[in-house]
Amino acid sequence: VITLAIETSCDETSVSVLKNGRRVLSNVIHSQIDQHKKFGGVVPEVASRQHIELINQIIETALKEAEVTFDDLTHVGVTYGPGLVGALLVGLSAGKAIALAKDIPLNGVNHIEGHIYANFIEHPELEPPFIALIVSGGHSHLVYMKDYGDYEILGRTRDDAAGEAFDKIARALELGYPGGPLIDKLAKEGNKDKIKFPRAFLEDNSFDFSFSGLKSAVLNYINTQKMKNEPIIVEDVAASFQQAVIDVLVHKTVQCAIDKKVKQVVLAGGVAANSGLRTNLIDKCKPYEIDVKYPSLNLCTDNAAMIGCVAYYEYIRGIRSGLDLNAIPNLKL
Ligand code: ATP
Ligand code: MG
Ligand code: FE
Repeated sequence: VITLAIETSCDETSVSVLKNGRRVLSNVIHSQIDQHKKFGGVVPEVASRQHIELINQIIETALKEAEVTFDDLTHVGVTYGPGLVGALLVGLSAGKAIALAKDIPLNGVNHIEGHIYANFIEHPELEPPFIALIVSGGHSHLVYMKDYGDYEILGRTRDDAAGEAFDKIARALELGYPGGPLIDKLAKEGNKDKIKFPRAFLEDNSFDFSFSGLKSAVLNYINTQKMKNEPIIVEDVAASFQQAVIDVLVHKTVQCAIDKKVKQVVLAGGVAANSGLRTNLIDKCKPYEIDVKYPSLNLCTDNAAMIGCVAYYEYIRGIRSGLDLNAIPNLKL
């Protein structure tokens, strides 16, 4: 089975070709970060226009790198949500056009499911069941994946997503965009115990997250220091903030694994790239003999290979999307 996959949900234009779902023949990723940086975040109209300009040539490059042609394709996988509607429509239209022209099946893919499946590409031997902590720019989910296509949502964010919190704090510290990698780097030089920021564990036994209180606490700290004319040591703020996020994420993830009697947890989404999150989770899982897996850096953030992997498992289960498939900006898992 040869899958052509397309991902345009946000600000990465990406096309990938996979063989039998897990072998990546090509995974071309064009990031638009430079176009959006000056605005401090993704501008939807700019993203859509960029996708339109780039999509055809990225499809061509992906086929070429994989050494296949349109005639070799078994089916097409494409992200149809969640994401920016204008951006999603570009990839969706391209995917439908190929499916129609070559008379091959179309598989619509949930982007969040894609983030989980990045782990299947990274770890060829990985199989469900496991607990997945999905922490990205727009989502924070704790999911019990029992089997392919079979998910139980155990917790989700009630306000800001983890990545969003990183980006907002980075902006307040005037570090730039996207904030996650910058805070991660600074945190390594800082003292995580320097400033006591709150940890929102919510009610007993809740696996939901809330990061808006933490965000306010960090913003208050920055403003207070400024008002008192006291220095703001960005490394210490970054380290203390990051640790507050990590403590909650790790605690709840381990608790889920214990509750569900599952011996594997996987990290997914852009924040899974965070070095502190990775090491803390491994440390906390060790005493319970819970195995921790995560994708390499370029599979953590948006890419089409992870979308193709979901599409493959849908395809072999006999699932097909119609050519009337529409973009769903707030698609749920
Ligand atoms: P979603 O997947 O929810 O639709 P998205 O696709 O924009 O959102 P991703 O590409 O998965 O999100 O991840 C981007 C997010 O990951 C950004 O918020 C970014 O700051 C964060 N991020 C990237 N690297 C790191 C890191 N090393 N530490 C913390 N956060 C990081
Ligand atoms: Mg992005
Ligand atoms: Fe994403």
